[in-house]
Formats: sequence, structure tokens, C-alpha cells
Amino acid sequence: MHFYNTTEDGHNQDDSVLKDVTKSGKERPWRERKLENVSYAELLQILKFKKAGNVGACGRVLEFKTTDEGFLKLFKTWFCKSKLCPVCNWRRSMKNSYQAQQVIEEVIKEKPKARWLFLTLTARNAVDGEDLNQGLSEMTKSFNKLIKYKKVNKNLIGFMRSTEVTVNQETGAYNQHMHILLCVENMYFKNKENYISQDEWTVLWQKALKVLYKPVVNIQAIKPNKKGDTDIQSAIKETSKYSVKSSDYLTNNQERNLEIVGDLEFGLFRKRMISYGGLLKEKHKLLNLDDTEDGNLVQTSDEEKPSEAEQEANSIIA
Ligand SMILES: [Zn+2]
Repeated sequence: MHFYNTTEDGHNQDDSVLKDVTKSGKERPWRERKLENVSYAELLQILKFKKAGNVGACGRVLEFKTTDEGFLKLFKTWFCKSKLCPVCNWRRSMKNSYQAQQVIEEVIKEKPKARWLFLTLTARNAVDGEDLNQGLSEMTKSFNKLIKYKKVNKNLIGFMRSTEVTVNQETGAYNQHMHILLCVENMYFKNKENYISQDEWTVLWQKALKVLYKPVVNIQAIKPNKKGDTDIQSAIKETSKYSVKSSDYLTNNQERNLEIVGDLEFGLFRKRMISYGGLLKEKHKLLNLDDTEDGNLVQTSDEEKPSEAEQEANSIIA
């Protein structure tokens, strides 16, 4: 991550505007995310959540270090790590996508013939925070059951799973669903004894959920990973996206926003939104990657790891 100012002479000055620009020249949206974070903190304040102050302080002070090339790099800031925080979720999403790419590369090295599937599992909408909290717990339990079913388990190598909650603005209901990147043995596609059709996945998911209705399930095969393959990348993106979109609780209707934030805070309390399993979990551990949700959010990728020289350099506080 590089920061530089916009003055004509190119020197960093205290009154200059700092820009966070990616390698491809795209500006990173600190300002937008921070403005959303402030609105979220205000809602928490009205709802009398103790953490409102902490959330408001998230990413407020950004500390940069000058690199050898004269660029500024984010070195230190404080993140609140709240589940709904727009700043933290943005950082988590970048971090998770970077980690997933590394993990998948390692899995492909060990299992070059493995195939990849993208599975979406849904459950019936939740009506309030308590219902959502319970629904999410049940969904996780059911998923753990699903992957132990013989037909699923026999070809399963590993997975990366993320849980997303969306708000239906018309009905006010909450929809919880899971995006799962599955890694399976080549055998999966061989015959009827191994291949699981979408209808079969639906039957298995219904059984795992122990419900009378037919849940919506979607399964897609991802083409074998070649260089420049975008299918796996879009699946990573889908699995790494924010667990809750800020646009869902920052609408024009303040009363609704308060209700939604209250429900989501309750519903997502102590819930794990991203997890790895099987060989992907092993590789995540071997690569010594820290926790995607509670780990460091300053360095979200390799490019941002400060060198020793940079650590010794003077800090510039924005
Ligand atoms: Zn935060």
C-alpha cells in the first residue's frame, strides 16, 4: 500500500491530502469507509452500545512511514474489529481474498488434479436478531453435518466457507446464506456414485437442516485452474466479500437503520463468518496466516509488510 500527497513538488507536506493507491493506480476508499463507520458509530451511540466510542475511533488516526522510494505506507492504526464496521470489513475482505489465493495455490501444488466447486447454501429468512442468531448457529451445525455425509465426504479435500447476511428492505427480514468454495477429488465427476447433482445437494442440505421446506441450493463447477483463470478468482471474491453490506443498514430511514443494527449486533454476536476446513485449513496453518477476522488488519497483503528499515523510519501521522 502506498500513500503519497498531491502537491506539485512531490514532497510530503503536513497539509497535503494523503492518497492510498493500489499498484494499478486505483485509490483505496479510506474516506468513504470512514464516513460509513462514523454513521454506524452514531447508530450504536443512539442504541446505547458501549462499544460506540471504540467503533468511532476505528481508523481515525492513520500512521504512515516513509519508504525508501519516498512513498508513504500505512504502518499503524487502530481497528475496532466490530462485525458490522465498514472500515474493518473492507480490510477483512482484502485480507481474506489475499489469504485465500495463497492457500489455494498451495493446495493446487499438492493436489494438481483436484477440482473446485462453488456451493451456495441458504436457509429460510430470520425475522429478528434472536431468530438470526439461532439461525446462524443452526446453519453452521448443519453444514458440519453435510460435509460428513458419506457421498460428500468421500471426495472432499477441503473448503473455504463464508457466511453472509442480507436484509430484505421490503419485508425487513434477514437472509443468512453460505458461500463455499469446495475442493474435491477428480473422482467426483467420474460417475453417479460420486457426482452430486444440484437436486441431490438440495436433498442433502434439507436433511442436514432438518427442515420441511426445500432450501435454495446452488452448485457450480469451476474449471480446472489454469494461469489467468478467472473462475476461481471470482469464487474467491464471492467467498471473501463482506459478511454484511453497510448499504443494508445505512439507508435513508433512520428508524429502520436502528432496528437493523440492533438486530444484526445481536444476530452476529460471537459468530464466525469465515472458516477453512480440510487441506485448506492445514495450508492456512502451515502458511502461518493469522486469523482473517480477529487478526491484524493493518497489513492485508504481502505488499504491505513493512521492512525493518521502514520500521525505523520516522512516523507521519495523518
Ligand atoms: Zn472498525
